[in-house]
Amino acid sequence: MRNDYIKVVKFGGSSLADANQFKKVIDIIKSDSTRRYVVPSAPGKRFDGDFKVTDKLYECYHTAKNGGDFRALLSVIRSRYDDIIEGLSLTLDLTDEFRKIEETIVAGCDSDYVASRGEYLNGMVLATALGYDFIDAADVLFFDNKGEFDTYKTQKVMSTVLRLHEYAVIPGFYGVLPNGKVKTFSRGGSDISGSIVARACEADLYENWTDVSGFLVADPRIVKNPKGIDVITYTELRELSYHGANVLHEDAIFPVRMAGIPINIRNTNRPEDKGTMIIAHAERSENDPPITGISAKKGFCVLTIEKDMMNNQIGFGRRVLHVFENHGISFEHLPSSIDSVGVIVTTESLRPKRDMVINEICRSVEPDSIQLEEGLALVAVVGRGMVNRVGTAARVFNAVAKAGVNVRTIDQGSGEFNIILSISEKDMNPVIQAVYEEFFGEESV
Ligand code: ASP
Repeated sequence: MRNDYIKVVKFGGSSLADANQFKKVIDIIKSDSTRRYVVPSAPGKRFDGDFKVTDKLYECYHTAKNGGDFRALLSVIRSRYDDIIEGLSLTLDLTDEFRKIEETIVAGCDSDYVASRGEYLNGMVLATALGYDFIDAADVLFFDNKGEFDTYKTQKVMSTVLRLHEYAVIPGFYGVLPNGKVKTFSRGGSDISGSIVARACEADLYENWTDVSGFLVADPRIVKNPKGIDVITYTELRELSYHGANVLHEDAIFPVRMAGIPINIRNTNRPEDKGTMIIAHAERSENDPPITGISAKKGFCVLTIEKDMMNNQIGFGRRVLHVFENHGISFEHLPSSIDSVGVIVTTESLRPKRDMVINEICRSVEPDSIQLEEGLALVAVVGRGMVNRVGTAARVFNAVAKAGVNVRTIDQGSGEFNIILSISEKDMNPVIQAVYEEFFGEESV
């Protein structure tokens, strides 16, 4: 058993956008010797209107594929790295690396390989600047034949390799397929890589450094100066992220959650801020606010199916859902009454198959009526503090009523830590503002 404290630190693209940002990152890492494994993203935007290296790499790939001048794009990318190298006074020459990338593109490669070079090169630069070992993610992070992340193999190989390196940089975002080809996660996937590294080295903490000081109770574009969230559980975060709060890639939670490793979201530009701590369980305390966060997402519709005596018909729900399943449509919620059931799905997933789905449901369960309503937003009010606390729902609905908004459907999970309302899309912002004001405004208790 090891007895030393280990932190895995992941830095996002804005934290590594230029030499100045690199210096902040180096200071952060060097100020704490337990920050042993570093997972970088590719350089992000330096200013509004700038380009992200990953976007340029995709452009480079597509240009090459269409027979265009991809070399010009590659040299624009190269100058981003050269500026960083020069700004940090490093003696690192990427000529051979860029030659290899160019040759691989000419030979015909996948877009994943090209996109992954953003992290790969940034990892090399950061490892040189820190004096840390460089571990290519393609040697330690594996996908299977179906392109799914291979937990078992990765855990086995990565943990063994990490033990051989006291301090190392492992680029984020990609790994390797069984056929040796590079594969990336979906966009923003370096968060997942960081989580995987944290699990492999049995880290005590996974610090995820970005350009905000953690999660906010509500979207700052909707609520003015919302409060920050100090502590949030994985489960609460899943609910909030799913419904639109995006600071961390939603799949980044799983590897660390399994191992019970907390994640701390920190701000590279304000390292003095504590950020948000994401933990497995929080002891319930009377001082917890009843609500941890509010998030919302537009683009939903509800298909309401009515039939007298529906509650007595065994298999009714299964038959309805079977139709959605057959069409590959995943449902979000199922608010129901005695004689009706509503199926809430994304409008985007239903629209192309709408008539077929409705016809098949009519044939399958012969409803008395079936109605589709589009233009709904789902608002999730989430908080471990509402479990067993009387009156939270009343306050939520009071606030919504005061805002003059009609609630279309209501759903509360049996875990009792979320209330999900569907409302008309146009009411989304007023509802979020009203609920925030009720729980966090000056006059709230
Ligand atoms: N560089 C990749 C992207 O822009 C991955 C990441 O930053 O996490 O999506």
